Amino acid sequence: MAEVLEVAVVGGGPTGLMLACELALAGVRVQVFERRAEPVRESRALTLHPRSLEVLALRGLEGRFLERGRPLPTGHFAMLDTRLDFSVLDTRFPYTLFIPQAVTEALLEARARELGVTVHRGYTVEVLRQDTEGVELEGTSEAGVFRVRARFVVGADGARSAVRRLAGIAFPGTDVTRTAVLGDVALAAPPSQPAIGITNTRGGVMVVPMAPGVHRIVVNDPLREQAPLREPVTLDELRESVTRIAGTDFGMKEPRWLSRFGNETRLAERYRDGRVLLAGDAAHIHFPAGGQGLNVGLQDAMNLGWKLAAVAKDGAPDVLLDSYALERRPVGDALLRNTLAQTALIGATQETLALRTLMSDLLRAPKLNREFADSISALDVGYAALDVPSPQMDTPLLPEWSGRRLGDLALRKDDGTDLPLYSALHPGRWLLLGLGDDSRALPRWKPGWPSNVTHLRARAPAGRDELQNVGGMLVRPDGHVGWAWAA
Ligand SMILES: Cc1cc2nc3c(=O)[nH]c(=O)nc-3n(C[C@H](O)[C@H](O)[C@H](O)COP(=O)(O)OP(=O)(O)OC[C@H]3O[C@@H](n4cnc5c(N)ncnc54)[C@H](O)[C@@H]3O)c2cc1C
Repeated sequence: MAEVLEVAVVGGGPTGLMLACELALAGVRVQVFERRAEPVRESRALTLHPRSLEVLALRGLEGRFLERGRPLPTGHFAMLDTRLDFSVLDTRFPYTLFIPQAVTEALLEARARELGVTVHRGYTVEVLRQDTEGVELEGTSEAGVFRVRARFVVGADGARSAVRRLAGIAFPGTDVTRTAVLGDVALAAPPSQPAIGITNTRGGVMVVPMAPGVHRIVVNDPLREQAPLREPVTLDELRESVTRIAGTDFGMKEPRWLSRFGNETRLAERYRDGRVLLAGDAAHIHFPAGGQGLNVGLQDAMNLGWKLAAVAKDGAPDVLLDSYALERRPVGDALLRNTLAQTALIGATQETLALRTLMSDLLRAPKLNREFADSISALDVGYAALDVPSPQMDTPLLPEWSGRRLGDLALRKDDGTDLPLYSALHPGRWLLLGLGDDSRALPRWKPGWPSNVTHLRARAPAGRDELQNVGGMLVRPDGHVGWAWAA
């Protein structure tokens, strides 16, 4: 057997590629094993939400995505008429970025290769054996059987994850009970607004822009919702449903991709089994309502990447890996609950329509709209305090800050130059950030771990009252607060 890898990532979808980028950035020897010989041209996901754009910005990658996507200042919950206003969110990215999954994957794969990651395409993992020192993978590629040994393996291999099954991790939940269809088509008579949703007693139709000259149409048709997942979709079926529900077929033609999808909903019982971890769809699947699955997968990868690198390379305590499951599984659970709630609202009975009207009216209240927007955008995700060594200090620590997500604060250096917080996190290191002028020393702190800490002093942005009493903080590589101390 050849060299022992530090980490083998199984699955080169968005989650696996993002994770590989994070690991490689931290200097971990990582390789990706992906079943498909070629990248997928079709795009299931179309949306990057604010927190995902922040995650990309934490590594200086947002520009590559922004130039390939189209921002829309709203999101949606169950395609309700009242859309979620993202423009009021406290972030540098107050919008949904419409960008096809195929583009997201291509950009992440390019970044992974820049960082020196080998992405083995056409490699299907079929066997997994774990011992106290590492994990052995075996599978097939065009060249025949391959074997790999790694100290850790991450299953980012999607809904039917072989890694999850081979590691004996249960995936409890519910089977498909209804299906819906999508079509990526050209429209001779597109709607006048960029994104529309129509729901009535005949069903629901959503039309959103996808790429120049291509729209995505999603249809929930009560007359067709018992169609089996595997029944191929035809343009005639799509046209018939859309015309019956929306009163027009928008002049649809030239289908690029027609697909049927379902509401199977499951959450992995554990995200970790010894040296095997799960992320993305391998850990959670649900009806794709609200455009969240890919986003949560990227965010899983961001949470896991620096932790796995720290344990594999930097002598961090093994329990740090348990914190991945502790922090991210509740997010997966919340994702399932919100998509189940949305599924209940996607229907055409009198009762469902009345509930939709009620919910839509409620969402006109700015406070409620904001809460839903914070949740769908994932900006509301915070964690409990992580066990990171803290210094002995004269000023008290501020426990309420631990685990909080930080936006890209517009910090300012003493010489007057701007310093966006995220730019200090591009290398993926920890940041000991003193807020205030240069004359004040940062706390003396030299733990064994974390060892990769950047030290910085800068002024807090004006108008951020909540920072007034904060003397500084230790920022985790994923932009959440480790601990903060009082001014
Ligand atoms: C119709 C539809 C619309 C959606 N729209 C959105 C949206 O707008 N926004 C959003 O955020 N999400 C959306 N999603 C969800 C999103 O597509 C998924 O959450 C996302 O693809 C998950 O990424 P992943 O990398 O975890 O898994 P995947 O994308 O499934 O990638 C897993 C990879 O692992 C590979 N693999 C599998 N088994 C093996 C093996 N044994 N060995 C090696 N490789 C293997 C696969 O080939 C695949 O490339 C949508 C989903 C559907 C079905």
